[in-house]
Amino acid sequence: MKEYVTKLKQQGQTIGFVPTMGFFHEGHLSLMQKAKEENDVAIVSIFVNPLQFAPGEDYDEYPRDEERDQRLAKENQIDVLFQPSVQEMYPKEMTLSLQVVKRNDVLCARSRPTHFDGVVMVLAKLFNIIEPDQVYFGMKDAQQVAVVKGLITDLNYPIKLIGLPTIREEKGLAKSSRNVYLNDEEKEEALWLYRSLKEAQKKIASGERDATVITKEVKNILEQQTSGIIDYVELLTFPALKPVETIHSLIIIAVAVKFRRARLIDNLLINEKGEIIHTYM
Ligand code: AMP
Repeated sequence: MKEYVTKLKQQGQTIGFVPTMGFFHEGHLSLMQKAKEENDVAIVSIFVNPLQFAPGEDYDEYPRDEERDQRLAKENQIDVLFQPSVQEMYPKEMTLSLQVVKRNDVLCARSRPTHFDGVVMVLAKLFNIIEPDQVYFGMKDAQQVAVVKGLITDLNYPIKLIGLPTIREEKGLAKSSRNVYLNDEEKEEALWLYRSLKEAQKKIASGERDATVITKEVKNILEQQTSGIIDYVELLTFPALKPVETIHSLIIIAVAVKFRRARLIDNLLINEKGEIIHTYM
């Protein structure tokens, strides 16, 4: 990988990079297409990173399908599919760790306190290996986008971060590799994540500015319409992810609901006029 990248750099070619954990769906493919469009070379990695899963989380069961992923990468004209093994990425015990100290007490970090430390470690390594000019992430994982922005700034990576729209199924469910864990009933109920967020957006668009009123409404909907356990409903500034009482800037409203086998997340970025913002750069 390193030799190949060095050659590309010597030739002055630009590299677009899409880090993933595989089991591709249209969300991944949309990032790949953009990376392909906007760069000379598109590199996609598949690495289910043990460091970002806590003990008891779904590292072992995380869905994997190498053959299908390789076929899809080929069909989407990806130049390189980088699939390092755990042994290659972490050949010996690490001698240092990275710790996310901002944006790590909200949203997913609350129930997964070491998750983003693992994410930034693997990305720091992948960024050094691949030396991308542009990296592509989905706004489905908006907290990840905000944390990666911190990583790029703090460690001076000469990389442009691009956050692309959440790709949804017809009825609005955000595509996720973990959707395969849902049974039919839960799949119906899961539609309420997006519906509840849309209700929040409507409220903001019609002039509601009190964050508590909005989060309460979303919680009520989720409690009434799903059998899942609400992990969080939060309304925060974006990208700083600070608490909001009165809405007067770009905000994120985000939800996480635990179903029997899958914990699902979704969010909307909403500006002060109540409009949905789909991309972030
Ligand atoms: P993952 O394989 O789940 O780590 O995701 C790899 C990349 O795909 C991340 O940047 C995710 O945010 C992005 N992604 C996941 N689901 C979606 C989706 N439904 N729409 C757009 N991007 C997504």
